[in-house]
Amino acid sequence: MATHALLFVATLALWVRSHFDSDGLVWWRWNRHGSLYASKGRLIWGVSIQDEKLREYAGDETYFSWSLGELVEPTSQLFAAPGVRFAGFQYWVFWNGPALDRELIIPLWFLAGSAAVLPGVWTRRFLLKRRRRKLRDRSCCTDCGYDLRATPERCPECGAVPT
Ligand SMILES: [Zn+2]
Repeated sequence: MATHALLFVATLALWVRSHFDSDGLVWWRWNRHGSLYASKGRLIWGVSIQDEKLREYAGDETYFSWSLGELVEPTSQLFAAPGVRFAGFQYWVFWNGPALDRELIIPLWFLAGSAAVLPGVWTRRFLLKRRRRKLRDRSCCTDCGYDLRATPERCPECGAVPT
């Protein structure tokens, strides 16, 4: 539960922060270059693949780099290529020089919303469990709260059989 709440707070913080500063993870590997940015309320995931080795690429390993600071725009905004858009979600495939680029844009409000649902469900489940345990401790029916001290086998009020 705590992890989910933390995830929600983190997503929310990222969303708010993305309007002032961007956070990004960038990587390179031989002929491909990828990036994941949180900027202007969106999560922008992009992968660019070309036939030849990248100019920036020196060795055999995957290089990672953090990019913090200035707000970034999706590369697809520079191209008039047709993409799929729906409620802030966008998906693009386009040629960027010799490279084939893919870009996926997910609104951060959507991630924050998804992260909010889980803690909500968990809290509800936790409260229900606690209520049932309290009622059981007081020898009451866990379904309707009726006092079961006289009839511990079956609730005379609602018919529930205590487990
Ligand atoms: Zn009952």
